[in-house]
Amino acid sequence: MKILNLFRKKKKIGCPACYEEKIISFGIDLLETKYDSKIELYERIGDIQIFKCSKCNSEFYKENQTFQKILKGQIDFLKVYFKNEQKISSELKSQIDLIGETKDWNMNNLIPAKIELKNGEIYDFATIRISNNPPIGYYFEHFEKIIFIDEIKSINSSEFGISREIREKAENAEEMRMGFYPIVLTTKNGVKIVINGQALFFKNGEIKGSDLLLSDDTWNHKEKYIYENKIDNQVLVIAKK
Ligand SMILES: [Zn+2]
Repeated sequence: MKILNLFRKKKKIGCPACYEEKIISFGIDLLETKYDSKIELYERIGDIQIFKCSKCNSEFYKENQTFQKILKGQIDFLKVYFKNEQKISSELKSQIDLIGETKDWNMNNLIPAKIELKNGEIYDFATIRISNNPPIGYYFEHFEKIIFIDEIKSINSSEFGISREIREKAENAEEMRMGFYPIVLTTKNGVKIVINGQALFFKNGEIKGSDLLLSDDTWNHKEKYIYENKIDNQVLVIAKK
């Protein structure tokens, strides 16, 4: 028996996150074959099952056949999300209808807006997300702040927001390079601009989203364009359908 044990490959105790801090997801099959798993069902929030590794205390939720690590703060956030209604008042809805919604790959409705909170804070780069998909995962890390719809006093169009017409055209954009869906636009001074796919905001120097107009040009790698700058300080507003 002793000899047999020598040849059996030893499983690591815990989970992949115990050994690699930066890991964000791993397959259930990997966990079962390579680890003596210490991950167990820990709590339920709404319809989401939360799992926890008793060795490294990392928290996970399951997405298809993978465990996805839950980021700091997301659990408290989910609790509020499931507790409150997060419905949009008819007043805010009429403002949203004026700006126009864009559907993303997961059928979430997104609206670029300028918002004012009840506490007086104002944000020019606010994406309003209307969806019944719970706010969990890495997408939510891209925002400086996440706000619930009931904290909002008013919604207006943002001068950096991209118009409904342009966003509708972008729905049919073709992929020219990996992850690159160029749409050629123009300003009224004839400056050629390129946005990537269903962008919601634009800012580069003095040029703002509201300056952009549709153009019949198609993207040509030999031409020079002005591309969007990375926009920091974006916030996300969560609302349910
Ligand atoms: Zn672990």
